[in-house]
Amino acid sequence: MIVQSNPHAVRTISTLVSVGVVVLLAIGCERTPIATAAEQNARPLVVCTTTMIADLARQIGGDRIQVVCVMPPGTDPHIYEPRPADSVVFGKAALVLYNGLHLEGKMLQIIENAGARAVALAEDERIKVRESTSAKGAPDPHCWWNAKYFMVFAERARDALIRVDANGADAYRSATATYLQQLERADADVRRMLERTPTEQRFLITSHDAFYYFGEAYGLKVDAVLGISTDASVRALRPDELARLVINHRIPAIFHETSVSQQLNDFVDRVVEIVRRSGHDVHVPSEPLYSDSLGLPGTPAETYIGALRENARIIASALSVRTATAASSQPMGADGGQ
Ligand SMILES: [Zn+2]
Repeated sequence: MIVQSNPHAVRTISTLVSVGVVVLLAIGCERTPIATAAEQNARPLVVCTTTMIADLARQIGGDRIQVVCVMPPGTDPHIYEPRPADSVVFGKAALVLYNGLHLEGKMLQIIENAGARAVALAEDERIKVRESTSAKGAPDPHCWWNAKYFMVFAERARDALIRVDANGADAYRSATATYLQQLERADADVRRMLERTPTEQRFLITSHDAFYYFGEAYGLKVDAVLGISTDASVRALRPDELARLVINHRIPAIFHETSVSQQLNDFVDRVVEIVRRSGHDVHVPSEPLYSDSLGLPGTPAETYIGALRENARIIASALSVRTATAASSQPMGADGGQ
């Protein structure tokens, strides 16, 4: 579990919860981050499920709130199971901010227990949710990678914070207005970066299907080894089909992700093997994409905006390369999927 109160003063803090007492320990920070009991009581405790949402809460709440992020960077939210310590923290929360749309599949009970104190940031009519293609499937929860949708998250978080701390309303409104401007700029920058990618190579193939909204917003066709959850075999893994897609569209690169299992990234490597066995080329960039989690503290991807920009940079760079074999290759069979 990661706790970060003020991002400017505190980098990383781990929380140990025992017998209902929250003990804060600093790891590699410049200033002691240990909050006194009085400070903790004075500042509303905002419990966030994912790193994206915790960053959002810190951007808007600043010093007025104490943010606890349940899942550390690199955690897969589809399969994260709450620990006893999480129940303690949820119980103390003035506000719980979570994604919703079944992203936190195994946390539903603990979130429901928080009742009206819990707000699902993605569940808003302004967000056009992609429904599952299978009858039993859940909707696609990964809407945060469209920065315009993350702006909706920000407005919902602001309103929720004002409800629990009305005295801070002006501060929350002001911080949100500033943050929305930053999101607008990031959104425009990412669009520009990806527009430079050759149109015919704007295919994003990843470990699991976390980038539909990103692709929709920034002009990429998206496919993945696995469906929208890493938790279940929503559809069969299909490296052969993806290999055909890579070859037929001369896609120069496909991608690993930071927050999925090694097994899923291995499936991406199987696609690479199949493509290469067919006499074509494709590569996997050494930098994986940030899908369901931000990067580690101290890296450019430690914030949502940083991770969005990093993803765009990695994708634009990798897809702008044309391999010699791809340029002269012949299509193979029918496309899968797209
Ligand atoms: Zn996911």
